[in-house]
Amino acid sequence: MKYYLLFGPPGAGKGTQAKLLVDKYNLRHVSTGDLLRKEISNKTELGLVAKALIDNGNLVDDSIVEKMIENEIDGNPDAVGFLFDGFPRTVAQAEALDALLAKRGESLDKVISIIIDDSLVFERIAHRAAIENRKDDSNPEIIENRIKTYHQKTEPLIRYYKERGKYFEIDGSGAIEDIFKKISELI
Ligand code: AMP
Repeated sequence: MKYYLLFGPPGAGKGTQAKLLVDKYNLRHVSTGDLLRKEISNKTELGLVAKALIDNGNLVDDSIVEKMIENEIDGNPDAVGFLFDGFPRTVAQAEALDALLAKRGESLDKVISIIIDDSLVFERIAHRAAIENRKDDSNPEIIENRIKTYHQKTEPLIRYYKERGKYFEIDGSGAIEDIFKKISELI
């Protein structure tokens, strides 16, 4: 089983690249953001808790997303591989993922990081807001909070994965096809 992780700030293009990669490599795309939005639209108890946090640009509790990932892996034993998108977002989540895979005698293959500047994050999210109608994309203060949360809680993962020799970075400011080509070379 292959395990890849798409990493990067909000608006870096992880979702766009994930769709292309899933088509090409038949990987199972696991986006914790998409899974949480599904819980919200189904009005589940978990969705209610998650909604307030997501709408304000804050992270959902580690234990919730860790359980979602475990369910996805358990529920798809025939998958050729997984492409995680938007998970992990904290060092605690990365440790939990390592432990979960180690329990199965497996490990993460590569972290593919798509990096863009904060100014481009704003531009990209404003563009997406017009298309996807996400509440957390529509307010500059909330976007600011998501960028701050990324720097504080998620960026430390770069060091975590560099130390483990798993980190591969790609400049996310270019054309979608060029970025896809570079990612494909890593997979
Ligand atoms: P995304 O679609 O990846 O931009 O995620 C949208 C929102 O869902 C984030 O701003 C968080 O509030 C929440 N979320 C998604 N993935 C995670 C995660 N791994 N840990 C905590 N919160 C998450």
